[in-house]
Amino acid sequence: MKKPIAGFSKLSKSEKIEWIAANYTQNPKESKKILESYWNSDSQLQQLHDEFIENTISNFYMPMGIAPNFLINDRLYAIPMAIEESSVVAAASKAAKFWEGRGGFRTTVLGTEKVGQVHFMYQGNASKLLDFFKNIKPTLLSEAEHLTQSMQKRGGGIKDIVLKDKTSELLNYYQLHCTFETQDAMGANFINSCLEQFAETLKKEALAHPDFSEQEKQLEVVMSILSNYVPNCLVKAEVRCPIDQLDLTQDISPRDFAEKMVRAVEIAKVEPYRAVTHNKGIMNGIDAVVLATGNDFRAIEAGAHAYAAKDGTYSSLTHARIEGDVFSFWIEIPLAVGTVGGLTKLHPLVKLNLEILQQPSAVELMQIMAVAGLAQNFAAVSSLVTTGIQKGHMKMHLMNILNQHNATDKEKEAILAHFKTHTVTHRGVLNALENLRK
Ligand code: NDP
Repeated sequence: MKKPIAGFSKLSKSEKIEWIAANYTQNPKESKKILESYWNSDSQLQQLHDEFIENTISNFYMPMGIAPNFLINDRLYAIPMAIEESSVVAAASKAAKFWEGRGGFRTTVLGTEKVGQVHFMYQGNASKLLDFFKNIKPTLLSEAEHLTQSMQKRGGGIKDIVLKDKTSELLNYYQLHCTFETQDAMGANFINSCLEQFAETLKKEALAHPDFSEQEKQLEVVMSILSNYVPNCLVKAEVRCPIDQLDLTQDISPRDFAEKMVRAVEIAKVEPYRAVTHNKGIMNGIDAVVLATGNDFRAIEAGAHAYAAKDGTYSSLTHARIEGDVFSFWIEIPLAVGTVGGLTKLHPLVKLNLEILQQPSAVELMQIMAVAGLAQNFAAVSSLVTTGIQKGHMKMHLMNILNQHNATDKEKEAILAHFKTHTVTHRGVLNALENLRK
């Protein structure tokens, strides 16, 4: 029977390891060895990683790959991707190479607005609240000036504060819906600091408001927090080419291929079961760049999926069209990311990846990420409508199966050669391995 522990966070790192290994693993000695084998040999670097989070006991490695040949707005990029799933980097690279020969990717940033809200309850007259809000709006802004000065110097800051009456959805519920520009920062801390200041000002001014009843003065701030739903922090990435250039494979004519691509996207638009997987594939590309650049993939994921459902049904984030002889394929996705703040200047690999990406601004990084998502989706959907996804995926997964069964270099060589002409399945690989080992 396991027992709870008091003061775990106060233990030293090795005491934490002792405790977890002894209480939750079968072989404490071996568990400690595994945890320690992932420590960085540079103790300063290890300390840096230890301090990113709390109760750190080891590092969790993720492979980092490069997808080269991305031509974005006539500029060539090699994109670092951190991801554990085989075939994603290969698919991105394949799509990048394909489109590099057809004019590359074109991107447009449609907006960079971030959002935060002060949620509060007010029992009283709605029009009195609106008059009060109009009166105190300049004070809300001026009392946050100490927080916004340097962001304003960069060209950002608070864009607007709007009072929203949400009482039809929840009794007595109102909000200050606030919009921001946060330049090269994702902005979570800037926005949250501004919101908490707005909340203080709101409470103070309500208490002092001469026209409010005692009940109205007691408006209750429930919480102040940024929103990860940023439909106006939006980027579009597109590829287009004459249909006869869609000569990916001999097995299907370019026009049939284009039509199948459009149909596959139409299915993802109307069928949520398909849309979720379609968008998961897009996020394979985006999350890998989000992670490699030290951004917050939970925030990006939440915002992207909310946007995919913005019209009331969960739908595809990509779109495809045939206009005469031209095929176009594009994505529109909200991406609130930073190239300063968070881990961006702390994690040595993140710093290097931003250098590899030619030191992008946040706006440039949005475009690179959208392109990675579009490329990934193009590769996935084009496989789906032609050979099927498993052929390429299992080929890439083959090495994982071999490693799982401790194949030697010689066995790997023989089996890779065998599967050049055979279909890869998990059982098939095991059979081939067993045959070799007989
Ligand atoms: P930081 O607070 O680390 O850094 C951003 C700050 O850097 C800005 O506020 C600004 O401060 C300064 N800065 C310097 N140069 C620039 C520039 N060129 N453009 C803009 N700002 C600049 O990071 P963020 O506020 O961006 O927060 C990101 C982190 O917050 C992520 O790690 C995320 O995981 C986490 N987070 C996310 C939440 C969510 O998504 N719901 C909630 C809470 C945290 P100044 O103006 O004072 O100089």
